[in-house]
Amino acid sequence: MNVTTISSVTCPVCGSLCDDIELVVENNRVVDVKNACAVGAARFLHYSDHRNVKPLIRKNGELVEASLDETIRKSAEILAEAKYPILYGWSSTNCEASRVGLELAEEVGGVMDNTSTICHGPSILAIQDVGIPTCTLGQLRHRADLVFYWGCDPWSAHPRHVDRYTSFSTGRFQGSTWRRNAKRAAATQTLKKLKRVANLTMSRKVPELSSTESHLPEFMLRKERKMVVVDVRKTRSAECADYFIQVKPNSDYELFQAFRMLARDEEIDVDEVAGVPVDLLEEVADVMIGCNLGVFFFGVGLTMSSGKHRNIDAAICLTRDLNKRTKFVIMPMRGHFNVTGANTVSTWQTGYPFAVDFSQGYPRYNPGETSVVDILCRDESDAALVIASDPVAHFPQKAVENLVKKPLITIDPEVTPTSLMSDVVIPSAFVGIENSGTAYRMDHVPLPLKKVVEPPETCHSDQEILRKILNEVKKIRRPSD
Ligand code: SF4
Repeated sequence: MNVTTISSVTCPVCGSLCDDIELVVENNRVVDVKNACAVGAARFLHYSDHRNVKPLIRKNGELVEASLDETIRKSAEILAEAKYPILYGWSSTNCEASRVGLELAEEVGGVMDNTSTICHGPSILAIQDVGIPTCTLGQLRHRADLVFYWGCDPWSAHPRHVDRYTSFSTGRFQGSTWRRNAKRAAATQTLKKLKRVANLTMSRKVPELSSTESHLPEFMLRKERKMVVVDVRKTRSAECADYFIQVKPNSDYELFQAFRMLARDEEIDVDEVAGVPVDLLEEVADVMIGCNLGVFFFGVGLTMSSGKHRNIDAAICLTRDLNKRTKFVIMPMRGHFNVTGANTVSTWQTGYPFAVDFSQGYPRYNPGETSVVDILCRDESDAALVIASDPVAHFPQKAVENLVKKPLITIDPEVTPTSLMSDVVIPSAFVGIENSGTAYRMDHVPLPLKKVVEPPETCHSDQEILRKILNEVKKIRRPSD
């Protein structure tokens, strides 16, 4: 029996990119995982349960088995013949694959777009407008004493974020607050249970308690690490936080502007903003100004609600205002493990982070016009290559209808709705498990991904597959070279 323990493995699931994972590998299978959250552990243990290992081509309406060379040739023919193909995905693969992908997009005069087009695209637009005061997660772990999670639920989407980088971590200058917060979460659960029982047994309903109290509790004024959640509903993260502010849906922009006024000592002459009493906002603003290092983490609750990139503009401007009184930084909570890498590689190569259009022979960037959802909704593309992504499950219906009626190539180790609707399916090796490479954590720190097991013979790395397609496209388009 061949058993090895591999340490310092980077988890290829979410943007937290935890790099302290320990794996036990037995006969080319991961049999035990240490340090990962449940989501990360499930990935390492069950990644290949429902995978596809056969290259497939659609013939007479059916996906049938083909050789890798056949699928590569067919993909190259589709892309070489297309006038305006789209190449989409890239956030769940490594930077090396994105680099080849950009070369391919330029060669075929297509559009290269990644998943930030439907998540943190507005954050990128805002950052391009007003810049971003930020730092690394390591600095926050050691020094941040006020942590805001705004429009995001790390407890569900980035399960180790609070534990590894913020409130529940023990930094050099800041202690962990997990005991205090765990007690509060347990008390909230008990209260919920009691309320449920009371509602079942009493004739009158127990009234809802207001989620936002009108004054801050005393401990919020103490000089110790604190976590505040701002959201439209009480999420699991809010239950573990020191304080929860419930904002009216689509009113975050107003709340940021109110905090900006307070940070600049201006008067607000209304009683409440975005459903929050102004007296309370004044107290929270005092806590912000009184901290040593504060941070706003924000998620798609901000980027995809009304205001979109204007919300992020306002959040960054608030951070800038607070920096006149104390030290404050801001950071988007990136979802896919290498969406930051996809943006970074695209920016290195073209100057633009997503939605890059090569159809004029040079890179153009105009989100809203050159972003894939808009191109598909206008039915302008005539072929698509999707890699490590599932747009059929996530795009608007009109975009999906137009995507699947044109030739569609999928490179993915998993069986997805997109791969099932494709004309060519090329199975690949799982990045970060069967294929090494580089990924960027949400704070733009590059980390190595490890290959811990060998892939099946038919599954090659994404960069290898893309390179083969690119070479074949060049042969078709420029036979004399
Ligand atoms: Fe993996 Fe994210 Fe869990 Fe860390 S928090 S172990 S990166 S899924």
